[in-house]
Amino acid sequence: MRKKIIGANWKMNLSRLEAESLYHEISNLGELNEHVDLVVFPPQPFLGLLSLNAGVALGAQNVYGPEIFGAYTGETSLQHLIDLHIQNVLIGHSERRLYFNEHSDFIGAKAIAALNGGFQVFFCCGESMEIRENGTAASWVEAQLTSLFEQMDPKSCSALVIAYEPIWAIGTGKVPSMDEITEMHGFIRGLCEQYFDTPFADAIRIIYGGSCTANNARAMAQLPNVDGFLVGGASLSYSSIQEIIASV
Ligand code: PEP
Repeated sequence: MRKKIIGANWKMNLSRLEAESLYHEISNLGELNEHVDLVVFPPQPFLGLLSLNAGVALGAQNVYGPEIFGAYTGETSLQHLIDLHIQNVLIGHSERRLYFNEHSDFIGAKAIAALNGGFQVFFCCGESMEIRENGTAASWVEAQLTSLFEQMDPKSCSALVIAYEPIWAIGTGKVPSMDEITEMHGFIRGLCEQYFDTPFADAIRIIYGGSCTANNARAMAQLPNVDGFLVGGASLSYSSIQEIIASV
């Protein structure tokens, strides 16, 4: 039985005081937090601050994987995260692929470095509307995942969380149908089995991201291969994230 997992991706939002207050509230959800693994991805400058009052697990929205130290202005090293006792990283988010030109090889290298460094990696994949409409969503997602799988040491598999995030659903209020989610998550699990083995495929957590809210989370959480959510906008409000956690 896979334990559900929820990532709260705050992106480039919230002031310092708002972030501290929301993190504190989420950390105090008590019993509600016990049935689900929860990771908060705050804006990077607040990671150090929030890690001082350790509550729920924290993660970095971005990391520069391939090197530990060096002349990489503006980047965050895995070693910096280790120093802060942060064990989660988000890699391959469509906003990083699109706005910061992160390509598959670079994303793969970052994910491998993080997995080899003992981090839990939330690896994002997902298609645009154009790709969905031309019927090639599955092969698009397959290419994104296999660029990682081909380089991955199967021993680090248990630390991988796959986040299926159709780009057209992110921040738009549009959500795929239950059949579309079921089909894609099943396809991803099949791919894991094909590349690795059945125990790996059974253990890996595949989460859904894209306009997940307190209103739609319960139904999606019932689907057979949905092991949780990556939540953007709705994770910025205490009441919504609390309801989403309660509904999985
Ligand atoms: C995201 O960007 O990862 C995301 C899921 O955003 P939203 O929930 O706002 O669609």
